[in-house]
Amino acid sequence: MEIIVTTLAIAPERPVSLWPAAPAADARRPRSQQTKLGASDTVCARRAGYLLHGRTPTDGGEKRKAILGTWLHAGILDAAREEYGWIIERRVEDESVRGHIDAVQLDSTTASRLPKRLRPALPAQETTVEDVKTKSTYQWDNVLRYGASEAELRQVYLYADLLASEGFASVKGQRQLARLGPVPVARIRFRFINRDNGEDHVQEIAYEAERARRARWWVQQVRAASTPEELPRTFQGPGISAICDHCPFRTACWGPLVAGRSPQSQLIHDDADRAKALAEYVEAGEQMKPLKERQKLARAKLDGSEPGAYGDNVLKWSGGNPTKADDVEAMVALYRRAGLEVPMAPDTAAMKAMLKDVGIPVPTRLDHDRLTTVSINVTANKKP
Ligand code: SF4
Repeated sequence: MEIIVTTLAIAPERPVSLWPAAPAADARRPRSQQTKLGASDTVCARRAGYLLHGRTPTDGGEKRKAILGTWLHAGILDAAREEYGWIIERRVEDESVRGHIDAVQLDSTTASRLPKRLRPALPAQETTVEDVKTKSTYQWDNVLRYGASEAELRQVYLYADLLASEGFASVKGQRQLARLGPVPVARIRFRFINRDNGEDHVQEIAYEAERARRARWWVQQVRAASTPEELPRTFQGPGISAICDHCPFRTACWGPLVAGRSPQSQLIHDDADRAKALAEYVEAGEQMKPLKERQKLARAKLDGSEPGAYGDNVLKWSGGNPTKADDVEAMVALYRRAGLEVPMAPDTAAMKAMLKDVGIPVPTRLDHDRLTTVSINVTANKKP
């Protein structure tokens, strides 16, 4: 008994969570500590500006998904290195931007200039820069339909352009690679991995020097700004863009949240702005109306169609199941069996029906804890 008592005294109250350890370890990763603008920081111009000007992040936010992505990423790339001899996680940089390329598959001519032990088991037909992206099932349909986003393309073009113009950075662990000098890149490959079920999707595009120039120009604009606030917000703000919802600078960018007001409301300064926003609202509604009707008609036509793949799309049905309702009789029986008193609440629905029947208005009171949704109503302004 004494032994048990001692064990209980020193045992932690709950199993120790590993999550507090993860952000601390993540913050020590070289990518988290770099001060030069990282190619992966080029998702939003304003955010890149905050990083470049050394501003302290104003918001913490949920990092667990991103950390899981990083761990998965590391495992996949390690396997590619061990099994295929791919060159992974290598640094490329110049005086203004730095990045870590996920994987490079050299063509046989370039690979033959490396010492034998560094040559890939399977050289590529053309030198290819690969970027691995982990995505959730929720984002998967967009990945299959549209592929890499503008920001993802910009990031990889920056890596590829650094490799093509500077070569691998001459830092510890990759000096032999740096000796290759500039490595002309012919292809870019995105490998998307669904982190919920492991499905993967590959998108390959030919390297275009013009797109690389545009990506470099984007970085130059960010670097030329004297304050982050001069730079445009690439996304539309918290509540509309998930990227802003999780941005470490969202308070710096949009100010503190004010209850009952969306952050975007600060973009309106006067009646002229108000008139412009109303006109945009009406115009967007007009554009959507025929599209919504078209979609409604298509939906109606599909009623009763069997699920399956048709052309470019897969049809699935969900819902149509009986909903769950409280089984009051079963609850009463359970209470009675347990010897508990069954609470008797007034039957509001029956009382309302009876009052209506005899023509007496149903009494109401204002509930200030439950507010109705604020809806916008815009009508044409009849000018005098
Ligand atoms: S909140 Fe959105 S717009 Fe502002 S810096 Fe962050 S990502 Fe960019």
